[in-house]
Parts: sequence; C-alpha cells; structure tokens
Amino acid sequence: MINLILFGPPGSGKGTQAERLKEHFQLLHISTGDLLRSEIANGTALGLAAKEFMDAGQLVPDAVVIGMLGGAVDQARQAGKKGIIFDGFPRTTAQAEALEHMLTDKGTAVSCVLSLVVDEEELTQRILKRGLTSGRTDDTDIDTIRKRVQEYRTKTEPVASFYKDRDLLEEIEGVGSIDAITEALMDAVNAFSSKHSDG
Ligand code: ADP
Repeated sequence: MINLILFGPPGSGKGTQAERLKEHFQLLHISTGDLLRSEIANGTALGLAAKEFMDAGQLVPDAVVIGMLGGAVDQARQAGKKGIIFDGFPRTTAQAEALEHMLTDKGTAVSCVLSLVVDEEELTQRILKRGLTSGRTDDTDIDTIRKRVQEYRTKTEPVASFYKDRDLLEEIEGVGSIDAITEALMDAVNAFSSKHSDG
C-alpha cells in the first residue's frame, strides 16, 4: 500500500492537496477533522464530546481520535484503494505511535510524511478567509485560531521528529500556486516509492 501523511499547521493546505493526491494515487482520504465534524453534524455522543475541544481550538483527546480510525486499512482494501492518505492525523506523538501499531498489525506501514511549510502570518490570513465561507466557528475567531496554532507548535510539531527519525519526513514549500505544490508533493511521493517499496 501507499500510505501518505499530509502534515502541517492549520491552514497549510492539507485538505486541498489531499483531494488531489487521493485522485492521483487512488487513495482513501481520511481527514480526522472532517470525521469529527460529521460526528458533530450527526449529533453523536462522540461529536458532542469533540465539539467543546474543537470550538476552543484545542486538540480532541487522543483516545477519541484513534478510536475513529480502527477500520481504515480494511476499508481502503475493501474499496480497492491503493492505500490511505491521512490528513490532520497524527497530531500527537501518541497518535503517531497508535498509527504505527495499527498499520503494522495490518502488514503495512507509512510510506512517507509530506510536511507543508507555511509561515504564521500567511496561515492566519488563510484561515480567516476560509472562515468567511466554511461555516466553521473555529475559523472566524482570532483567539481560537491562535490557540490552534499554539496547539500545533506544542503538541503536533514533535510528530515531525518522530518521522524524521524514521527517515520518512519530506518538507514541501506550501506557499505558491496550488498546482505547483501538488506537483512537488507528487514528485516527493514518487521519489519515496522508488526508494522503498512494501509492495
Ligand atoms: P485544520 O487543519 O484547519 O486545523 P482540521 O479540520 O484538520 O482543520 O481540524 C479541526 C479541529 O479538529 C482541530 O482544531 C482539532 O480540535 C480537531 N482535530 C482534528 N484532527 C485531530 C486529531 N488528529 N487529534 C486531535 N484533534 C483533532
């Protein structure tokens, strides 16, 4: 399988690029943010629990997020996909460890981690702009956005070292045309696939 992780701060373009990469490489797209928002829309207990954290710009507890992903590999295989693209996951080292476990159990592994690099000022502007149309309450309030970036710096950034240690991390400039960024991401995936292949 080709299992990709799109990594980067809120507003770095993970969702946009995941849509393109999933088509190109025939992957199942898993966005934990979208999964959580759909739980909220459906009024489930999980959604209710998650909403408070999300509205406050905080990460949802690991156990909740990890619990949603148990069936991902089977789901990808049943759907005839070549692998999975994770978008917004893992966001903590505990989540990265859980993912490693889950994939190993299923006889597969992370192929590469694509880290989108975007400066803080650009991120804030993009999120505020998205907030005008996204209907996401966490995209409109400047304090909530700041909190999310802070959560990213303290809890999510360490995940980059986790993958750097495993030689799986590739940094990609996330500012420029959407097409050019997609191309850079695809080139990075192809370079990794030719280097290591788990079949
Ligand atoms: P963005 O990348 O713009 O922050 P997401 O849709 O990925 O948007 O995430 C929105 C919110 O959902 C996060 O601020 C967080 O509260 C919650 N969330 C999403 N994925 C995770 C995760 N893997 N772990 C914990 N919380 C998450």
